[in-house]
Amino acid sequence: MLTKAPRGTGDILPGEVEKWQYLEEQFKKLCRDYNYKEIRTPIFEHTELFVRSVGEDTDIVGKEMYTFLDKGDRSITLRPEGTAPTVRAYLQHKLYGQAQPVKLFYYGPMFRYDRPQAGRFRQFHQWGVEVFGSREPLLDAEVISLAVAFFNSVGIEGLILELNSVGCSKCRPSYREEIRKYIAGYRDSLCLDCSRRLETNPMRILDCKEKNCKEITNNIPEMTGHLCEECREHFKEVVESLEAIKVSYRINPRLVRGLDYYTRTAFEIIDPQLGAQNSLGGGGRYDDLVEVCGGNTTPAVGFAIGLERALLALKSKSIEDLYQEKPGVFVAALGNKAGMEGLKMVTELRHEGIKAEKDYLHRSLKAQMKQADRINARYVIIMGEEELEKGKVLLRDMKEGHQREVTKKEITAHLKEKMGR
Ligand code: AMP
Repeated sequence: MLTKAPRGTGDILPGEVEKWQYLEEQFKKLCRDYNYKEIRTPIFEHTELFVRSVGEDTDIVGKEMYTFLDKGDRSITLRPEGTAPTVRAYLQHKLYGQAQPVKLFYYGPMFRYDRPQAGRFRQFHQWGVEVFGSREPLLDAEVISLAVAFFNSVGIEGLILELNSVGCSKCRPSYREEIRKYIAGYRDSLCLDCSRRLETNPMRILDCKEKNCKEITNNIPEMTGHLCEECREHFKEVVESLEAIKVSYRINPRLVRGLDYYTRTAFEIIDPQLGAQNSLGGGGRYDDLVEVCGGNTTPAVGFAIGLERALLALKSKSIEDLYQEKPGVFVAALGNKAGMEGLKMVTELRHEGIKAEKDYLHRSLKAQMKQADRINARYVIIMGEEELEKGKVLLRDMKEGHQREVTKKEITAHLKEKMGR
C-alpha cells in the first residue's frame, strides 16, 4: 500500500514528463494564437453542480463520481469534467458582463471512478476550451479547428473528426419518441443500462458499446433527418465553415456523446489505431447549460482532450523528436576548493539564463565527463586547483571535441556569446 499509488492513478516521472510539458506548451501556445484565456477552477465542487449539468442518467453521474461528505456534511465531488465548473465560474464572476464571446481554456486533472484499462484512468488530465455568448456556427468551426490544430501541431496523424448534430430541446423529443418506438420490441435484448435508458434517455442507447445494443440500433432512423429547421441550417453552416477552413470531417449520425448537456453540434476526434478507448477528445455545443445552472440563456460551445490518450497516440515518437532540450554547460570541478568555485560558476551561469549543472558526489574527472554526457552538455568547464591558481579554466567543446584555456573572468561572457544569449 505504502509504495503503490491508488489504482487508476499514476506518477509522471522524469523522461515521460518532458512529453507532457511539450503537449502543454503546444496547447498553451495555440490558445494564445486563437485568443483563449486560461481559467483555473477548484478540483472539487458541490456535487449538485455535476448532477444537474452532466445529467443524472449519464455514466459519469450514475457510477463514476468521487463523491464524499466533507467535515461540514456537504456533498463534495472531485470534478469529473471541466465544462460544468467553467459554467459555474462564468456565472459566479458575472463574466457575462464582459464583451462576448468569452473564450476560455482550462487544463488539469479530472476524476472518474471507472474500471481502469489502457487509456482509461481514475485520475486523468484534460485540456478543454469553452466559449460563451455566441450561437454562430462559424464559432463551432473555430473551436473544432483548434482541437484539430493541436493534434496537427504535435504531429499526431491519421485521426478522424466525427461530426453530428444532436438537435435542440425543440426537435429532440420527437426523435426520442421515435427511438423508443423503434427499440421497444427489442427491450429484452438490450443491456441493463440501455433498458433503463429506454425510459430515461433513449438517445444514449446509440452510444452503447455492447454488441447486442449496437446491432439493434444499426438501422435506427438518423437524428439528422429529425432536426428542426434552425438546427438543420446551423449544422449545414458548421459543415460549410469546416470546409472553408479545410478541416476534414466524417458525419457520424450515431454520435451522441456521454454527457447530457449537448445541443446541436457534437464532435469527437478518434484515433482508429487505438483500441476500445479510441476517442482522443470531443465536445460540442451546449446552448441550454448556462440556464440549467441558473443563468440567463447563453449559447456556448467547447471541447475537452484527454492528455493521456494524446500521449498514447504519440507513443512511437521519442522525446528527442519532439522536444529540443536546451543545451547546457557542465562544470567539472576537481578538489574541495574547486568545488566551491564550481558552485559559484553554475550559479553565475544560471543567473545568465544558461542551463548549468555540477557534480555533488566528488566523482573522478572521467566519471564527471560521463555525467556531462548524460545531461547532454554542449560545453564542459574543467576546474582543477592548478588552473584556478592561474585564474584560468579549461573549456571543452563536447560537439567539436577540442578544449582550450579561458580566463575564469571571461568564461561567462564567452559562453553567453557562444550559446546565443
Ligand atoms: P469526455 O469529457 O467524456 O467528453 O471526454 C473527453 C476526453 O477525455 C476523451 O476523449 C478522452 O480523451 C478523455 N477521457 C475521458 N475519460 C477518461 C478516462 N477515464 N481516462 C483517460 N482519459 C479520459
